[in-house]
Amino acid sequence: MQTKKDFPYEIDEYSYHRFEQKYNMIYRRLWDKSLPTYGKMFEYNIDNHISSGEDGYSRIDFALVAAGWTVYEKFPFAFSWHREEIMDIGYGVDWMREKYPVKDVKAFTNKTKKAAKFYGASLVGIADVNEKWIYKTGFVRPASTSEAESKEAIRKGDASNSILESPINLPKGINKVIVMAIEMDETAISTAPAQPASAAAAVGYSRMAFAIACLGEFIRNLGYRAIQCGNDTALSIPLAIDAGLGALGRNGLLLTPEYGSRVRICKVFTDMPLIADDLNLSFIKKAEKFCKTCFMCAEACETDAITKERDPTFEPATISNNACVKKYYVDVEKCFEYWIENSGDCGNCIAACPFSKIKKFKTSSEFWK
Ligand code: SF4
Ligand code: SF4
Repeated sequence: MQTKKDFPYEIDEYSYHRFEQKYNMIYRRLWDKSLPTYGKMFEYNIDNHISSGEDGYSRIDFALVAAGWTVYEKFPFAFSWHREEIMDIGYGVDWMREKYPVKDVKAFTNKTKKAAKFYGASLVGIADVNEKWIYKTGFVRPASTSEAESKEAIRKGDASNSILESPINLPKGINKVIVMAIEMDETAISTAPAQPASAAAAVGYSRMAFAIACLGEFIRNLGYRAIQCGNDTALSIPLAIDAGLGALGRNGLLLTPEYGSRVRICKVFTDMPLIADDLNLSFIKKAEKFCKTCFMCAEACETDAITKERDPTFEPATISNNACVKKYYVDVEKCFEYWIENSGDCGNCIAACPFSKIKKFKTSSEFWK
């Protein structure tokens, strides 16, 4: 195995290839007939949950979750790669066309980060684009179409590989990525795996859509290019690590010093002149050491999807992992099976992690008080 120490990653350079988004479980369940979750989504078990009377699975809880996705699913410009035309919203447009002349890149970088936080980022960092983390192929939304509309065919079960296998190539000159982490509600996450925790994730996604849409337009108003992304286009976790936001945990998620894994990640690629952040090396080393002997996420996982091996490995758990990088691999097939049973994403491994800093665990009834 030909490996390269490219801190903080140890990569099998010989075998590594860019991830294909169709292997993400959300897409794979649409085409891989070998999966027990083939063709299933959260609605699969929802009536049973609602009629069960179980705390955290009432119709009101599910209404909270589904409504939390509203902006992410229904806002047509959330994931734009460019402006089709400049719409005058009352401020004129001529001043937006020329590139803003950046004289002091450091001050300009700080103002861009301030804008990202102003639009809702809890944490923001900037990285040089590493092509390794860009999907080789993936689902590309039609321009100016909401997530829900653009995935209509997929939602109806028409998920031919061609829909999911568009080549992903960033335009020339796009060399920086602004990565934003958005905190998920502490009390709601503490109820995991009940539905308020799923609602925290849903609202996190909608806040992602808001933040990237506003930041993308801010960049375009300054005459530069912006590519607004949620989980699409590139792997968010290594980009976030590159941008200095944290480290990779045993739970397969980004660990941040501020909120642990209790964040959602979104990103905007751009050609603006910006200064990239350094890796948070001290935190990466701390997390690496901590995860070797802390198994709280693995113990909290109902399906043993998280490894209890002491050390990270190159061996993926499933074809849905981004392989050939030394890390803790999560068996996302098992994880997704639990999500389908649970009628929502679970979040146990987020709530259990000490870095998530949950001060008091609450029941769903307590969440509603
Ligand atoms: S989300 Fe739940 S099922 Fe999935 S790995 Fe985490 S604890 Fe396990
Ligand atoms: S719960 Fe422990 S082992 Fe799991 S990611 Fe958090 S610190 Fe690492």
